[in-house]
Amino acid sequence: MSLEPPTFAPEADRSTGAPRVDARRLLDRLERLRRIGAGHGISRIGFSAEEQEGRALIADFMAEAGLRPEVDPAGNLIGLPPALRSGTPVLMLGSHIDTVPEGGAYDGALGVLGAIEVVQTLSELGLRTHRPLAAVCFANEEGGNGTPGMWGSHAVAGSLTREHITAVDVLGNPMERLVGGAGGDLGRIGEAAWPPGSIDAFLELHIEQGPVLEERGIDIGVVTAITGRVTADVEITGRTNHAGTTPMEMRRDALAAAARLVLAVRGLAAEDRIVRVATVGRCDVEPGAWNVVPGRVRLRADMRDVDPEALDRGVAALEARAVAVAAETGTGVAVEVADRVEPAPCAPRLRRRVRAAAEELGLSTIEMPSGAGHDAQIIAEAAPVGMIFVPSAGGVSHAPDEHSSDADVVNGADVLLRTVLGLGRAGAEPRRRAH
Ligand SMILES: [Zn+2]
Repeated sequence: MSLEPPTFAPEADRSTGAPRVDARRLLDRLERLRRIGAGHGISRIGFSAEEQEGRALIADFMAEAGLRPEVDPAGNLIGLPPALRSGTPVLMLGSHIDTVPEGGAYDGALGVLGAIEVVQTLSELGLRTHRPLAAVCFANEEGGNGTPGMWGSHAVAGSLTREHITAVDVLGNPMERLVGGAGGDLGRIGEAAWPPGSIDAFLELHIEQGPVLEERGIDIGVVTAITGRVTADVEITGRTNHAGTTPMEMRRDALAAAARLVLAVRGLAAEDRIVRVATVGRCDVEPGAWNVVPGRVRLRADMRDVDPEALDRGVAALEARAVAVAAETGTGVAVEVADRVEPAPCAPRLRRRVRAAAEELGLSTIEMPSGAGHDAQIIAEAAPVGMIFVPSAGGVSHAPDEHSSDADVVNGADVLLRTVLGLGRAGAEPRRRAH
């Protein structure tokens, strides 16, 4: 039950009697969260003071929704039902509130606030669900401080690796300090993992972060699978020398070699169609002086596909191209896979429920893969997952002008609410069980 009287009354659709979320409350909370880390876009980097301030606000909202906010050893903020008996499987809803530097107000935030809104609406309407509901705000999904992303969801799924644990951020802070600052405890990190079966299912409401829904005039995307991603670090070693005195044929120009590799990475998707998309978004040049032939360049290549074998083929093709470019340019090129996230299919049962929920609300749907990575794909290692997409204006995300209309925000939360109800009320077995 709610700890405080609701500011706004939850509404029911007059024509169908279907329960609806409190639109004004949801939009008001989105606005309050937007102000934290606001400048040019929103900068609420994982484990930063701004993220902590945002999480304090989220904890307040969780309490208003009748949940008991707790920080787990990984630094995840989890709102649990107050009377949850240990071992009872929960239906987990949520996302993250950390952002990339100068990111947007909706990526992640919508999923956390939507989850809390659904819990609060059900509580106020006195509707009990088949499974107790937990709302989660995962720590450091974006990895905006240079540490591996999806930190919190990996901890919950029990899939943190050595690279996660031993990572340091761009300022040299070890994970122990970062997690400790968020109220976690790296020494007890194993306790953050939920035992098998304890998450009955996980649902994540999210903005699409792409142009498809808006361009086709569709209200809701029913996510079929979340794309996998492999990132590879490419280091090109040439020879630093004077830009005025070194003859062209005697140069070993690391940046000129890097340019060929940037185009080769693009070609893995564009011409070769080995992977769905491929990008180089980062390039560090040494010494980085205009009058010096570059001696060393570091690139990071990002390849994504819903097929894990396509990712394997992408890495193999990049390695082959690196060998060729090294020979052509007299440089040394080393390719090392830095991070890999496997593609994750959404559970068919949850996809059906999301689609039915949207249709019952009179909203149009399409099935689509997610091109971006999400916490849901990590949780998919431990539980069935479902994802609901709402349109992103102009397909823009990870940028200051990321925007979804109020109507789309509310539609998404209503679909989440109805999906949760569709999975079964207390006392009634859902038609199909998870797994
Ligand atoms: Zn996100």
